[in-house]
Amino acid sequence: MEQSVKPTSSLPLNPHIAGLPPYNAGMNIAMARALSGRHDIARLASNENPDGCSPAVLAALASSSFEPWRYADPACTALRTALGERLAIDPGLIVVGNGSEEMIAAISRAVLVPGASVVTTVPSFGLHEIEPLAMGADVVKIAMTHEMDFDLAALETAIAAVPRIVFISSPWNPVGSGLDHSSLQRLIGAMRPGTLLVLDEAYFEFADAGAPDGIEVLRDSGVDHVVLRTFSKAYGLAGLRVGYAVCSGLELARVIAAAKTPFNVNAAAQTAAIAALADEGWMKASAGRVRAERVRAAAALAALGFRVAPSQTNFLFFDCKGDSSRLAAGLLKQAIIVKAWREGGYEHYLRATIGLPADNDRLIAALQELVAR
Ligand SMILES: *Cc1c(COP(=O)(O)O)cnc(C)c1O
Repeated sequence: MEQSVKPTSSLPLNPHIAGLPPYNAGMNIAMARALSGRHDIARLASNENPDGCSPAVLAALASSSFEPWRYADPACTALRTALGERLAIDPGLIVVGNGSEEMIAAISRAVLVPGASVVTTVPSFGLHEIEPLAMGADVVKIAMTHEMDFDLAALETAIAAVPRIVFISSPWNPVGSGLDHSSLQRLIGAMRPGTLLVLDEAYFEFADAGAPDGIEVLRDSGVDHVVLRTFSKAYGLAGLRVGYAVCSGLELARVIAAAKTPFNVNAAAQTAAIAALADEGWMKASAGRVRAERVRAAAALAALGFRVAPSQTNFLFFDCKGDSSRLAAGLLKQAIIVKAWREGGYEHYLRATIGLPADNDRLIAALQELVAR
């Protein structure tokens, strides 16, 4: 029997949620196969690790210590203890999330009230805007410079107005550049009491040697802060959802933890993250391969005439001087998925994840062909 759909409802919805812009997730594999008619998709849209994950993770998930029938520890005690040792910090300052994206939501819930102001960058990581908007906050976005870098002067001016939160990803998704030591110090110096600095370091492990470590730099800064890290990228656990917040104080950590759901990190994710952390050698070798490919691919794209942003991440962001969705459609025909940027003013940019060398070769060859047309 067919169900009748009521054309309208008088149910009042939360306007902050109902009015949210959609999160622009990368194209999924089934859709890409259907649209391209091909099976061998080069998945360069979601910044996943092309090397997979450590074999120690798969072994841990197959071992008897993984008990899916038990509720997992809501406090993630074993993982937080391991992270505390690795990072030389009090585990009480760490809150683990169902992906670091859950921590972006929990921080917003913990700190923001309707009408509060938030500063972030544009182009932006969608959730740095969406989660504050969900709380009824006003979001000010500072554009990247012509050189495709952080506009520190404009950020300083915006921060001087004492927003409740500043969300900065460094290395920056989607641009790729990272704050160097002096830029990070300049940002820290601009902070005033009453503002929380959230430094999202999802791509920390891909940065070149000598790049600042936000946890170390902020530790004794006296600035209220949270540093976000994730197991989704360099550790290759995107599908399991586990990331964490390192907070500047115990009370801040307590309130952020209160803003998450109690059993937020499932048993598989906790088991996998502990195993991944114990095999840091695998992660470092993988990140090294990505860095080498990033240099090679960036040079090849520049040789094709694209303006490529300097990258400290596992992706490249480049100006294709025309509507990037057309170029993305051309690549999809060749079974390559990338992310055409859709934020206003940035529709000429395309973000491509660094894949295996063969995937990167396919991307370069396909772009060469599309550019020559
Ligand atoms: C990928 C990414 C994350 C990680 O999200 P998870 O929820 O941990 O998978 C967080 N912040 C930025 C800027 C990212 O690009």
